[in-house]
Amino acid sequence: MSKPAVLVVPAGMGDVGFLSRIVEMASTAFEPAGGLRMLVSLEGVSLPISLVDLDRMQYRAEDVNRYLASMFEGYLEPRRRMVVAVVEGDGYVHGLNFVFGLATPEIGVASVYTRRLEALSPGLYVERVAKEVVHEIGHLLGLGHCSNPHCVMSFSNSVSDVDRKEAGFCNSCVLKLSRLMV
Ligand SMILES: [Zn+2]
Ligand SMILES: [Zn+2]
Repeated sequence: MSKPAVLVVPAGMGDVGFLSRIVEMASTAFEPAGGLRMLVSLEGVSLPISLVDLDRMQYRAEDVNRYLASMFEGYLEPRRRMVVAVVEGDGYVHGLNFVFGLATPEIGVASVYTRRLEALSPGLYVERVAKEVVHEIGHLLGLGHCSNPHCVMSFSNSVSDVDRKEAGFCNSCVLKLSRLMV
């Protein structure tokens, strides 16, 4: 059986070079578990303004994922063929002030929001977004949060949590992933 595939789609991100660096870093994280196929979509998506909560100026992340699922209906196959959108902007879900990203495993779609991950150093920015992309793909493949604070699957409440964790999975998550990815 072929490796699971992830299509990374820019939403409002004009820079394909930036996304390629993210994908390069993110795909490395999956190598110890057997590897994923990650592709950057050259064609971006433009998210309709109806997905933005105008009182908060934030995307409603659950609605964004549903919208992407309808857009990529013919491609998606949960756990086998997934879509991750890198969204230039901020997102939230009900009950939280913001999210760095949201995965909806049952439809195979995740979105990552770049606004709060921005950094003066381009290298740090790429690293932060890559970590969140890896984290959300981990959820799409069936992983939960990890109690190891250095593992990419640890929950991040703040950008300093994101900086603390590594871009890779701890040994226990690698083991779980390699079982989930067959
Ligand atoms: Zn999470
Ligand atoms: Zn872990």
